[in-house]
Amino acid sequence: MDAVPAAAAQRWPGRITERTLADGRPILYFDDQDTPGPVHEAADVRPLGEPPHAGEIRYDVLTGEWVTIAGHRMNRTFLPSAADCPLDPTVNPARPTEVPDSSYDVAVFANRFPSFAPLTVGPAADAPPPPFGPADRPAYGHCDVVVFSSDHDAAVADLSAARMRTIVEAWAQRTSAHSADPGVAEVFVFENSGQEIGVTLSHPHGQVYAYPTVPPRSGQLVERARQHRQATGGNLLADVLAAEQAEGTRVVLRGEHFTAYVPRAARWPVEVHLAPHRDVPDLAALDDAERAELALVYQELLRRVNRFHPGVDRVPYISGWHQAPTGEDRDLGRLHLQLFSLLRAPGKLKYLAGSESGAGAWINDTTPERIADRLREVAS
Ligand SMILES: [Zn+2]
Repeated sequence: MDAVPAAAAQRWPGRITERTLADGRPILYFDDQDTPGPVHEAADVRPLGEPPHAGEIRYDVLTGEWVTIAGHRMNRTFLPSAADCPLDPTVNPARPTEVPDSSYDVAVFANRFPSFAPLTVGPAADAPPPPFGPADRPAYGHCDVVVFSSDHDAAVADLSAARMRTIVEAWAQRTSAHSADPGVAEVFVFENSGQEIGVTLSHPHGQVYAYPTVPPRSGQLVERARQHRQATGGNLLADVLAAEQAEGTRVVLRGEHFTAYVPRAARWPVEVHLAPHRDVPDLAALDDAERAELALVYQELLRRVNRFHPGVDRVPYISGWHQAPTGEDRDLGRLHLQLFSLLRAPGKLKYLAGSESGAGAWINDTTPERIADRLREVAS
């Protein structure tokens, strides 16, 4: 089994600076080192007007899931050329970007085209009520953009260890900040990488969504965890981790604080989960030693996913941090990462076709054990 090198368990040595964009959205700069450096005083001089508003959420009575109706997002920026990237630093005042300063390490700001926002436009006061199920609700919440580097062409797996540690801190800080909002039910931290995934900006960045309702996957997991607790008294995610560690065939990496394994019923051609050894609800609950190891382990998993298919330079991936709901049923959730790719072979994508998209019934064309073998084979 691949152990990971011990990480120095010190407090994050960086610094957070909070500023405001021209339309009132907050922007936070996370600097890698707590040393004299940029003070991030550059002002956002764009004539932006009102802060963005979000739409509404409607209840799907057939599935019991909430759907966000965000029609105003249709005209958002889509694959701009590198010269027009809105996540670059503002080096030329004639081309202001979303980040006013000319240099930064990690920048976090509220999305200009949010699916959820503190200010909403819907539902309209005179909208007819739905015939069944709960009434439409405002799409209240928060959507952060987390820019991982000022380098437009950087890949997260290749960033310095210090930078990755700063990113972990930004994830934890945003989770903590949004969880304190009583209008937020769950905070989801995620990254889409690669045009095949539907990424609209190639600059290295991730997102944080603070939802007004518990999202469907988490809702299902909570129900399964509740049944498991009633049947066994245990925590489902903790017991799954223990079972994978004991069985071992799908474990791909084991550190002092985290273990990565391919789930027994993996759905994607490349999929791996990462779980902390300690029962923690979210990233904010990780201590310094856990955060330090997480930074190392996360990049190692990204590198392995990237090496998965011989001859492919950059494997597209989605990585999502599932965290416990902030209110009711918090004790049934447990932090874990789901990292996966829809690339099943060089040049061949796994499409979510009739069975998956239509019926929600998944068919994996490989075996989880084979995925685990390969993820061990390509270890650093
Ligand atoms: Zn860029």
